[in-house]
Amino acid sequence: MAEATQTEKAPRIETKEDEQRKFVLPSGVNHWLVITTMGCPPGVVKIYDSMVHKLPFQTKEQICALLMTKEPQIEVLHIDVQQQRNTNDCGLFALAFATALCSGQEPRHLSFEAGAMREHLLKCLDMEDTEPFPCVPVLKKKRKHKQDIIEVFCQCRTQEEGRMAACFICGEWYHEDCVALPQELWTLPDFKWSCASCV
Ligand SMILES: [Zn+2]
Ligand SMILES: [Zn+2]
Repeated sequence: MAEATQTEKAPRIETKEDEQRKFVLPSGVNHWLVITTMGCPPGVVKIYDSMVHKLPFQTKEQICALLMTKEPQIEVLHIDVQQQRNTNDCGLFALAFATALCSGQEPRHLSFEAGAMREHLLKCLDMEDTEPFPCVPVLKKKRKHKQDIIEVFCQCRTQEEGRMAACFICGEWYHEDCVALPQELWTLPDFKWSCASCV
């Protein structure tokens, strides 16, 4: 399985039209995980990650691109799922989580047989069909999911990055790279600029 490298731009994700069924696998930083809006209200995503760590900027970028939300922020809920015990099974776990979700199962309540996953994947590839990965159900206490908040701006609905300016009417912030901003913004302290939606 090809992996995204540190320097590579976060890969484009194909999404289905149905808002509730979006999956993402590559995190953009040499790692694979699952992101979905299934069962989430607007502006919320769930993340299924077999190696929980601080959400990298590139993964947040992926989430923003996937959602294109009108909301001012995105709430990311980290679902408490099985963790991999080595450094190279993230792709297998991501596929196992995604397959479980597609078949109506909640990965949080599943324990996958790590040793059998690779062979199962090869079998699926041979059959050209994806079947749920071998697993047993586990009971977990209900507890509050760890969450991250991503603040989003501009017409591109992504994170704060580079030089930005605020519209003096609606207050929305825009990236210098996304809209044509007048030079006076950087030279005249009291210069007022309004965005295309407010003109
Ligand atoms: Zn932008
Ligand atoms: Zn505006």
